[in-house]
Amino acid sequence: MESKYSHTLKTTCDKCDKDVRRFKFLKKMNGGRFCKKCASKKRLEHREFLKREVCHIKKRKDMEKEWEKKRKEKEKWIKLMPKIEKPDIKSVRINKVKISSLGLFITKIERFVLYKKLIGKGLDGRTAKERVTKLCNQMELITDKLRNEVKTKEELDKRFREEFGKMCMELESGELR
Ligand SMILES: [Zn+2]
Repeated sequence: MESKYSHTLKTTCDKCDKDVRRFKFLKKMNGGRFCKKCASKKRLEHREFLKREVCHIKKRKDMEKEWEKKRKEKEKWIKLMPKIEKPDIKSVRINKVKISSLGLFITKIERFVLYKKLIGKGLDGRTAKERVTKLCNQMELITDKLRNEVKTKEELDKRFREEFGKMCMELESGELR
């Protein structure tokens, strides 16, 4: 049984106009009265507003878009790198540990190979050591040159081996002094 008073009260949602039959079924929010569905939607919207606009928390989807953009940007730069950035001696030094793992710098074994060859050619230990250092420096120059010519690590590594082999052969034949 409805009271006379309740008839004077609006029982429809301010947003979707749905009649909820009883005034008390409407939820009061932001100066309006809404049905259950619209009220929860409004609450969600408000929570979203607080998160995004007030606390500046980004949506994962938006963040993923940003990451993707950054990744593409980075890839673009990496592709341009060998063309615009000629590594100077300083940057080569910094990368030394990483590069040597790719076999781009003369390893201890290779140094020893050169040393043995020089000893075999009649050089004394000290002179042989000095020669090895010089040859290694020469190899570093070659590496720098290769770095500008070759685009992939694999090819760089292969070319380095070839150049080293050439150096050993020239050393053997006496071409290299
Ligand atoms: Zn509604």
